[in-house]
Amino acid sequence: MSLQKEISKRRTFGIISHPDAGKTTLTEKLLLFGGAIQEAGAVKSNKIKKGATSDFMEIERQRGISVATSVLAFNYRDKKINILDTPGHKDFAEDTFRTLTAVDSVIVVIDVAKGVEEQTEKLVEVCRMRNIPMIVFINKLDREGKDAFDLLDEVEQKLGLRVTPLSFPIGMGYDFKGIYNIWEKNINLFSGDSRKNIEETIAFDDVESPELDELIGEAHAESLRENLELTYEVYPDFDRDAYLKGELQPVFFGSALNNFGVRELLDCFIELAPAPRPKQSNTRLVDPNEEAFSGFVFKIHANMDPKHRDRLAFIKIVSGTFERNKPYLHVRNKKKLKFSSPNAFFAEKKEIVDISYAGDIVGLHDTGNFKIGDTLTEGEEMLFKGIPSFSPEHFRYINNADPMKSKQLEKGIDQLMDEGVAQLFTLELNGRKIIGTVGALQYEVIQYRLEHEYGAKCTYENFPVFKACWIEPEDPKNEEYQEFLRVKQKFLAKDKKGQLVFLADSPFSIDMAKQKYPSVKLHYVSEYK
Ligand code: GDP
Repeated sequence: MSLQKEISKRRTFGIISHPDAGKTTLTEKLLLFGGAIQEAGAVKSNKIKKGATSDFMEIERQRGISVATSVLAFNYRDKKINILDTPGHKDFAEDTFRTLTAVDSVIVVIDVAKGVEEQTEKLVEVCRMRNIPMIVFINKLDREGKDAFDLLDEVEQKLGLRVTPLSFPIGMGYDFKGIYNIWEKNINLFSGDSRKNIEETIAFDDVESPELDELIGEAHAESLRENLELTYEVYPDFDRDAYLKGELQPVFFGSALNNFGVRELLDCFIELAPAPRPKQSNTRLVDPNEEAFSGFVFKIHANMDPKHRDRLAFIKIVSGTFERNKPYLHVRNKKKLKFSSPNAFFAEKKEIVDISYAGDIVGLHDTGNFKIGDTLTEGEEMLFKGIPSFSPEHFRYINNADPMKSKQLEKGIDQLMDEGVAQLFTLELNGRKIIGTVGALQYEVIQYRLEHEYGAKCTYENFPVFKACWIEPEDPKNEEYQEFLRVKQKFLAKDKKGQLVFLADSPFSIDMAKQKYPSVKLHYVSEYK
């Protein structure tokens, strides 16, 4: 098959949601359709459960699962589908943000009763910034929830999206009758039996037909007609170009648990969702159909076996094909590397493959060469843009608790930071090291892993910082900037790349700094240009 044909078959996407909205359940049903798994319950939830186990055991369990579910691939019809796992827990939000740099589109899952929740807002904002095409799936229609129109309003307002429903629910909760599929013009009747649901689709080109009354009862038929009329009046017609540009989001309703509305979602998804998209590098826009391979690291996973310090680096192939044993240029290191056992992913298994195509993810064994964001090419010196760091929410000094092991500690911290577990800042004033994280859980992860993988011990000390702001001076020589540096000396640090940050202790001090030094721009994201 030609390169172009292979690439155009690929659909690489992520499912994002607030925890408990139904991401795992939906993923599993999608895999069932692909024939990739045989039974429900096969996809493990990567959720962090609070309770019985101590946290670090939970973290280890989670790490195991997160390797297994990092990429779930399957074939459906003539498409190759790659689902990238995006942790919903807020302490792992950075992971999810980075994964979103490797997807070509996303599905947003929303709980019909809870509506738009906090994590959904944050993740969708990132997708909006990147104009990632989004499809919204409103889940749990078998339960009582919010009115469909109210929910659509909420999605528009809270998520800043422009939506158009491509399906519409008939009833809800105990009175849930089914779904009218606006896209395919048919009705899927809900029987509560997930095996039957797949078959029972009845074509309805004309909802005015009296047969509708017979099928779902007069009251439901009437209200469906009214709702559809309103829908056509209020919402724009679906326009694929607008969807692909991230300017319009189609909405589907269903119940993942009952496998209801999932086939409709999947069928529509493979028709609408984009094949691998071009990606910007520092020198040019790279097209997926170019013959020459290029790709970037969006995730690094440490091996579960503490005796082996090898890691799995996840590469999104941006263009061409990735071949086993072929030398590629690691652009940052200016080194040629060959990989004898690249992993490809299929359902929950990973296997060694000879060739992978743009859109696919390969897992490469790495002994410490890679950092998140690294670019591999066939020789061209370019770097892919766009794996930003966000300001952490928590900050602590990290101290060495075993002076005999300071080398190990340094190495451990270095590698964990390359993996993107947390961010390291070094104070300008005295060189003390500060670890910044999105969630408090990461401190336990770091302490545990330093000890078990590197034989080093650390302690933490609170450091009252509100946010890290990356500093962009209008002109590094101007007096205002120099004064800013002098006055804020105690609060300045460098990140791992050597960029200067202002560690602000409160929202107030950020506001003050902005007022007093208007020419010094402060950013919550490391890549602001
Ligand atoms: P995740 O945290 O987003 O991955 O959510 P899960 O897929 O683990 O689902 C959270 C809970 O919601 C589980 O108990 C599911 O069984 C349940 N759930 C998922 N989909 C549905 C649905 O369509 N209807 C109902 N009633 N429950 C659902």
